Amino acid sequence: MSSQPLSAHNFKQLFHSVEAFLFDCDGVIWKGDELIEGVSQTLQMLRSNGKKLVFVTNNSSKSRAQYALKFQSLGIPVSQDEIFSSSFAAAMYLKVNNFPPQNKVYVIGGEGILEELQLAGFTGVGGPGDANKTIDFKQNKFFEHDKSVGAVVVGLDPNINYYKLQYGTLCIRENPGCLFIATNRDSVGNMTSLQEWPGAGCMVAAICGSTQKEPIVVGKPSTFMMDFLLKKFNVSCSKMCMVGDRLDTDILFGQNAGCKTLLVFSGVTTQSALEDPSNNIQPDYYTSKISDILDLTEA
Ligand code: PLP
Ligand code: CA
Repeated sequence: MSSQPLSAHNFKQLFHSVEAFLFDCDGVIWKGDELIEGVSQTLQMLRSNGKKLVFVTNNSSKSRAQYALKFQSLGIPVSQDEIFSSSFAAAMYLKVNNFPPQNKVYVIGGEGILEELQLAGFTGVGGPGDANKTIDFKQNKFFEHDKSVGAVVVGLDPNINYYKLQYGTLCIRENPGCLFIATNRDSVGNMTSLQEWPGAGCMVAAICGSTQKEPIVVGKPSTFMMDFLLKKFNVSCSKMCMVGDRLDTDILFGQNAGCKTLLVFSGVTTQSALEDPSNNIQPDYYTSKISDILDLTEA
């Protein structure tokens, strides 16, 4: 079915049928470090009407605690329990799959992943600590890796290098049963508000290339995080609305889980991309930005 523009009429129906709104962060709440117009008032209105709010981000560079601080610095009161980041999802994946805590986790990614691993009781190695490692091929030295690494987690790593690629590759190829986990596969991300930059998908693709293996993806559009959300907030999928700016991550995540979906044009997707005949992901509704719902509730 094709998408409908959000109107006072269909929003009223949506508003009454939904108990929780799941918000993607970048492109919906903020762009880089800048808050999107009207977000604060919109979230306040939803909270004052008793709606549960959840924030789901594929950006693994921060932990949930660091995201709570980011919300706070933007003047939006959000509790850490309302935030689901792909860094947290990676740690939770290991936890629910009984990953042995004596095994290490090699990280191609940032502090956010290491912090979440530590909070979940796991030992993360690599990450920013391997940022300056170089390889001198002229020395022709054997590259050693730790055989106790039982999982490699790959997320956004602005300091990715050949050392980390070799390390992660050897763990996956040579350590028996070593898991290959991707926080997300976004092709690009808004590292700054001015332009897009290569996203975790590019780091994940490098490891797929060298290992010839496919990762377990824990971020959107995988519904791995959904089980946590449902338990935590005690809502059913049909009473949730996923709001996002990307079709292949956010809207697909909502649809995969059976939520209502709302696409906003305040991030990466344009109306012409939505209407392009090659696009086969159709949200239930679309609108320009989340604060449009303030006008619709007053209408
Ligand atoms: N990954 C990176 C590196 C990013 O910079 C972003 C957005 O800025 C994302 C992923 C997507 O984040 P979200 O799921 O909040 O849109
Ligand atoms: Ca987004």
